[in-house]
Amino acid sequence: MDDLEYGTRDKRGNWAPNTTLEVAPFWTGNWNKMGQFLKEFIWPWNALHMATALLYWVFVLPDIETMKTISWSWALYLLAVNAVGIFLLYGAIEFFYYVKRKQRTRFKYNAKFPSENPSDVFWFKSQNLDNFLRSFFIGIPIWTAVEVVMLWCFANGIHVFGWVNWQENWLWLTLLTLLVPAIHEIHFFGIHRLIHTPALYKWIHSVHHNSINPSPWSSLSMHPVEHALYFGEVVWHLIIPSNPIVMMFNSHVLGYGALNGHIGFDKLELTEETPLDSHAYAHYLHHKYFEVNYGADGLVPLDKWFGYWHDGSQEADEKMKARFRKKKERVKANQASAKPAK
Ligand SMILES: [Zn+2]
Ligand SMILES: [Zn+2]
Repeated sequence: MDDLEYGTRDKRGNWAPNTTLEVAPFWTGNWNKMGQFLKEFIWPWNALHMATALLYWVFVLPDIETMKTISWSWALYLLAVNAVGIFLLYGAIEFFYYVKRKQRTRFKYNAKFPSENPSDVFWFKSQNLDNFLRSFFIGIPIWTAVEVVMLWCFANGIHVFGWVNWQENWLWLTLLTLLVPAIHEIHFFGIHRLIHTPALYKWIHSVHHNSINPSPWSSLSMHPVEHALYFGEVVWHLIIPSNPIVMMFNSHVLGYGALNGHIGFDKLELTEETPLDSHAYAHYLHHKYFEVNYGADGLVPLDKWFGYWHDGSQEADEKMKARFRKKKERVKANQASAKPAK
């Protein structure tokens, strides 16, 4: 495919899309865009997370009686399945698009590949190895532990209002399933903005931001505290009347869905003529500029409401730079007033 039909490339080789990011159309009254929005909302990513959640429910998770007691046997089995699942999904994209480079830098925001930039901030100076090890030895175990505790709560009927079943509450549970990506954006925005406060950033979130040019393995490369806050999102299902299948869907939106923001390509060419939208641009801009786009795609446009939204346009860029300038001046003024008078 010719990526220059869809965007432009600067002299460094970095590609940017022609179209700017848009928040969900029901916020802006662009009702004619609802059809396209709904299609992209469901297909393929959320459909994939729902499919894997159902597969887990039918083939992976033990019966309720077994889940009443936490034991190493089913917890380690779930850990193994999660690790294999992440390895297959993330690994496939890493392998074809970063190792084999099947579409080279077409649709790639950053012209460089992480392996071309060894850096001291990473374990063994390698972004790939560092990110991979953090994901598999810290991230996936914490993700699995949260799932195990949630499933144990379900099996033992532990819930603020009570777990609900599909037979009697199918309408509510269908609605809740559709709301999961919105819950995700609100929770993620909240914790993400929190760990961008200076002290927490330095201690926790800087680990994730070491990857300025993210690749799939960067997705779950975080400080353990961030892992806990991030995967802790599913605890909402102990407060909202929910069902373990919806909870597992939410969990897969977190575990498998973290990939999207870190794909690094705007479109993946599945075949010559079949592009797959990555939905990576908003979070790519976050990794590039740090203090924009704390949430996700603008399903709940908190970034817009709080003034952090960067849609990729020139105007957004200028607005962001003005905000950064103001912040710098504020910091300077504070430092000057804090200095004792001579
Ligand atoms: Zn990220
Ligand atoms: Zn961040």
